[in-house]
Amino acid sequence: MPRELRYYGDPALRKKAAPADAFDDDLAGLVNDLFEIMYREKGVGLAAPQLGESTRVFVVDVEDDDGRTKRAFVNPVITRREGEMVGEEGCLSIPGYREDVKRAASIEVEAKDETGRSFSLTAEGLLARAIQHELDHLDGILFVDRLSPIKRKLLEARLKKFEPPVPRKSPDRSSPKTRSTV
Ligand code: ZN
Repeated sequence: MPRELRYYGDPALRKKAAPADAFDDDLAGLVNDLFEIMYREKGVGLAAPQLGESTRVFVVDVEDDDGRTKRAFVNPVITRREGEMVGEEGCLSIPGYREDVKRAASIEVEAKDETGRSFSLTAEGLLARAIQHELDHLDGILFVDRLSPIKRKLLEARLKKFEPPVPRKSPDRSSPKTRSTV
């Protein structure tokens, strides 16, 4: 069965994912699906639990002042966090909801790519935000969990009425803003 995007309310989004232990064709296929569905949904990041796979893998494709970062992160760990930034965030698994979320302004990440090669990178701005958002997905955390208690209550009241969109909706529903949806 082809992998599909999971939406708010799906238990797969709330599981703590297990590390990937083999850099094989299965992992390559998962990374491929992550990129494909991320592009189809016009996001800048997508994590394996969003496709129902409880594995510590996510992909990003972010373009900012520092250039373009398109890569898969396998078993990623944030090794340094500095500063704070507040900015609007959305999630492909919770379409239609966007809120300001506080994140570290600058981070350093260590991970492996899909071939098992280790790398580390430092990130700021949208890239840092996308990586922190995706890494949360690997721990079953959604951006709505990061809101202040009052905002979260208001959003949860709205989310009670959340209905997953009909699969394969026209891609035209996205506004330019969804380019920062992760
Ligand atoms: Zn998300």
